[in-house]
Amino acid sequence: MDAALIAYLLAAAIRITGLPGVAAAHLPEFVALPARELERQVCPDGGNGCRGIVAYFDRLHFRILYRDTLDLEQPFDHSFLLHEIVHVLQYREFGNAMYADCRSTLRTEAEAYRAQNRYLRDTGQLAYVGFSLRTTDCAGAGLGRLAPGPA
Ligand SMILES: [Zn+2]
Repeated sequence: MDAALIAYLLAAAIRITGLPGVAAAHLPEFVALPARELERQVCPDGGNGCRGIVAYFDRLHFRILYRDTLDLEQPFDHSFLLHEIVHVLQYREFGNAMYADCRSTLRTEAEAYRAQNRYLRDTGQLAYVGFSLRTTDCAGAGLGRLAPGPA
């Protein structure tokens, strides 16, 4: 993993979210995995929740998993790492409360997607991520429906 890229994305995540910072040395390890292995690690029981997942902050093992097909030279691709770095900052600030219930999960994901989209705009990308969040509400939603989320 490119240490300069990670330091850069960390600084951007802190600047965009305003969350308390952390030294790059205290970030989790970044682990590249084939898409299928990534899905298997995040959702060992299968199910569609992990289909298409690109990256994931594994709080239990304190590591960030991401697809080995990402081209980290490209802002669109490495913006998914920024999204997960935001989750690391949130985790340090709020602990497991960030995913305690549906509303917390929505807030947590909305903040990470906002940061990712802001980063994409700042780097001149026309892409937009996180569409499904806009149509998701918490009425009658169980916790499992949202967590671990699409990215
Ligand atoms: Zn997320």
